[in-house]
Amino acid sequence: MWTLASDIDGTLVGDRAALDRLAARIADLRGAGKLFLILSTGRRLAQVIDGLADEGLPEPDAVLCQVGTEIYRPPLKPQSEPIPEWRNRLLAEYSRDEALSFLEGIEGLVMQPDVFNTQLKTSCYLDGCPEPEVAAAEIRRRVEPHVDRYQVVWSSARDLDILPASSGKGKAIRFLVELDGLDAERVVAAGDTGNDAAMFFEFDRGIAVANAKPELLEVVRELGEDRAYLARTPYAAGVEEGLAHFGVLDGAPGVS
Ligand SMILES: [Mg+2]
Repeated sequence: MWTLASDIDGTLVGDRAALDRLAARIADLRGAGKLFLILSTGRRLAQVIDGLADEGLPEPDAVLCQVGTEIYRPPLKPQSEPIPEWRNRLLAEYSRDEALSFLEGIEGLVMQPDVFNTQLKTSCYLDGCPEPEVAAAEIRRRVEPHVDRYQVVWSSARDLDILPASSGKGKAIRFLVELDGLDAERVVAAGDTGNDAAMFFEFDRGIAVANAKPELLEVVRELGEDRAYLARTPYAAGVEEGLAHFGVLDGAPGVS
């Protein structure tokens, strides 16, 4: 059985017709017991549930929310709690107060809304900073002595997250793969921005959709074409193309 770990925004979502086609093929594979689907996203669970109802997202076997700090299993309800094994492991290393201290005094920094700031995720926007890249570098410098407990994820030249060192999309998926006895050799990751890079580094196969941001394209170049496939098509069509490339799906229509 394959595992597809896919980001949502900018990866599955962006072209509804393409997503409908991909979702149907994913549903067939899941129905045949050939695919385990993990949705791996910066969204909150409630926004994933909305996406299942309104945006055509395929039904998943597990959901990673808030950049891999929360793992949920179906049935998905707005009041569902993340699985405690993962949450407790992360809480043991992370202090929200200390994470906030790394952001002090950065000019132009704006905290993300409260719903994106949790006990395990400290998130801000840097696009209002005079030089966002310089601000991100300064925050990384401050966190550097504490990399055993914290990590910085910088995405889309806007979003900066300080997460537990053990979290992030890649490690959360690894945890789930081990917990559920999935085949780690048959995990395919799909994404479009920097917070997806951790999945690409953690596993042997990554799909970057054609609309991927420069920071992920750099990772694709670094990993090389054996491990990271840059799709010629954007959004869900690119995921479908990549799944065909890695042999998870038979040749995708519309791709020569
Ligand atoms: Mg994305």
